[in-house]
Amino acid sequence: MTVKIIHRGFNFSQDGPGNRLVYHLQGCTMHCPWCSNPESIAPDGCILATDSAADALCPYGAVRDGQPDAERCKDCEKPCLSRHSAHLKFSCTERTVEDVLREIDSSRMLFFDGGGVTFTGGEATLQFDALCAMLTALKEKGIHTALETNGSHRDLPALFDKIDYLIMDCKHWDEDAHRRVIGCGNRQTLDNIRKASQARTQLLVRIPLIGGFNSSPADAEGFAEALSFLGSEQCVEVLRYHEYGKDKWKQCGMAYTMQDAFVSDDAFRTFCKILADSGLHLIKT
Ligand code: SF4
Repeated sequence: MTVKIIHRGFNFSQDGPGNRLVYHLQGCTMHCPWCSNPESIAPDGCILATDSAADALCPYGAVRDGQPDAERCKDCEKPCLSRHSAHLKFSCTERTVEDVLREIDSSRMLFFDGGGVTFTGGEATLQFDALCAMLTALKEKGIHTALETNGSHRDLPALFDKIDYLIMDCKHWDEDAHRRVIGCGNRQTLDNIRKASQARTQLLVRIPLIGGFNSSPADAEGFAEALSFLGSEQCVEVLRYHEYGKDKWKQCGMAYTMQDAFVSDDAFRTFCKILADSGLHLIKT
């Protein structure tokens, strides 16, 4: 069995407790226009060009001013990659699950402070069978597991007993608003958050707070109601809009369409206060 991996690396206590080896898996079921990892969206991967030096690497002229024509590249044999240039690369590598597990085994001594392994994306559940196999093997080895997911997979509950630390995104409380901007509804996600809340004690729900999309006081009321079933030990984290991944959209040949989406300090405080006053347990990781 193989798995498509964009990159992996260590971070401390952001995607689960302790020092963690974090695997970003290729492919996503959602298309958030503010995505920090746009190269992760295409299920089979995409070409990334670093700058205009990449233009000459394409024999078909599909890279202009460091921007690949993503549609043109999709079905191409990708001769550009055989040039092994630092200016143009493919977003992911395909590895065997066994190879990934060997790598994790050799990194165990670095999982200090209750650390372990986190799978994220893109959307890791898009490669469900590989994810399930890796989580199962890690549990058997006694390695702490975490999953960061947008909650869109209908079989996600089947993984609950293999995940020590579950992080679920909730991008909008309203189905129509979610579908209009992200390209799909939120029912499966809200249903899975509810199932996770019933099946587990630990649960972290993350709200990406995007100006002009889900950050008004009325939205805060909507989220408070939509998540009112969360238990006192189950947490919510509000993450403010940023543009760390903006340049990568061009590198992937995709247009970055977000404008004026930063959330002011006042609006952020108001939003969090409404959630906290409703009884939700807010944290910051
Ligand atoms: S995949 Fe590479 S060779 Fe093919 S069109 Fe895109 S940049 Fe050109």
